[in-house]
Amino acid sequence: MAIISKYVALKNYIPTGLPKETDFEIKSKEISINKEKNILVSNSWISVDPYMRARMTERKNYKPPFKIGEEMEGYAIGKVEISNDKSFNVGDLVFSNHGMRDNFVCNADKLKKLKAIDMPIQSYLGPLGMTGHTAYIGLFKHGELKAGQTVLVSSAGGSVGSTVCQIAKNLGCKVIASTGSDEKVDWLKNELKVDYAFNYKKVENLVLHLKEICPDGFDLYFDNVGGDFLESAIFQMKNFGRIVVCGRISQMNVTIPGSGIKNMAHVLVKRLTIKGFLIFDHENEREPFETDMLKWLSEGKVKFKETVYSGIEEAPKSFIDLLKGKNIGKMLVKI
Ligand code: NDP
Repeated sequence: MAIISKYVALKNYIPTGLPKETDFEIKSKEISINKEKNILVSNSWISVDPYMRARMTERKNYKPPFKIGEEMEGYAIGKVEISNDKSFNVGDLVFSNHGMRDNFVCNADKLKKLKAIDMPIQSYLGPLGMTGHTAYIGLFKHGELKAGQTVLVSSAGGSVGSTVCQIAKNLGCKVIASTGSDEKVDWLKNELKVDYAFNYKKVENLVLHLKEICPDGFDLYFDNVGGDFLESAIFQMKNFGRIVVCGRISQMNVTIPGSGIKNMAHVLVKRLTIKGFLIFDHENEREPFETDMLKWLSEGKVKFKETVYSGIEEAPKSFIDLLKGKNIGKMLVKI
């Protein structure tokens, strides 16, 4: 039986600047079930994530560059269509790293069977997936968050950031949220009930703004953006404050390299801890995250929004729009 797989491939590396749709192509190829690749999966949801930008350059990173002309990788949820392996049945819902394509063949090692849950299955790419896990590990393991503390969150209207805000609120913390549109500000204030949310694009002087809204300073800054925002946050940290460096999206597409943090004196004098982390180092630490997150979701204590694009052809645009901030909550492609 001839099976056609349609996929997104990178046409060329993009060393700097915002990617364009012409940097990608939609390709098709014939795939077949064989002895090594004995399971056929059709994808239903594809995760679109900022870390993919780093794989679009030839620079050394924690994951290798995407191969030009070949399928891009990424997390996905799909359904088993044909199985010649007794550990998987037709109809099983599975998680894989074979995203950015509509279907694929592989062996059982490349798939994780998903438990049925009382909520949309794509939650396994959002609050129950890598981004929810990142929020949880970042806050508790690296941020050492305690009840009642004051937390600053950047990119707070996105997938990781919105989860960070809600976990911190559930713990009784005061949450200050920064995001890039008034619509996201409204969502954070009115639905997620953060203590203060603002549109950083409308703020003239971020250092003064942070001082004005939080004169006593922050115990924890959950940094999703890096760059000037990180430097501004350092000015307003409390003594012994912690900064969790989760992402640096403001620096991902720059054409002129950033100049570095100029206020290191504050790090010294305030005895700050600045800690980077990668969620890939914590893949074996899914508990107690899964138990806590399932409980919060079922009690409505963590809510989530999705921005959904349709079809594999829309995947390049969804990625570019993620970098432009057009998503609220998790960016996904539905196949
Ligand atoms: P988001 O859902 O937050 O989407 C990305 C957002 O980044 C955009 O919506 C946009 O929102 C914001 N953004 C884009 N450009 C800029 C800019 N120049 N300055 C400030 N904000 C900008 O993505 P995720 O939730 O998936 O990821 C959030 C961060 O966490 C990213 O930096 C990502 O790389 C990082 N991450 C790190 C992991 C780890 O293991 N350390 C794992 C997963 C994610 P806005 O409207 O606010 O501008």
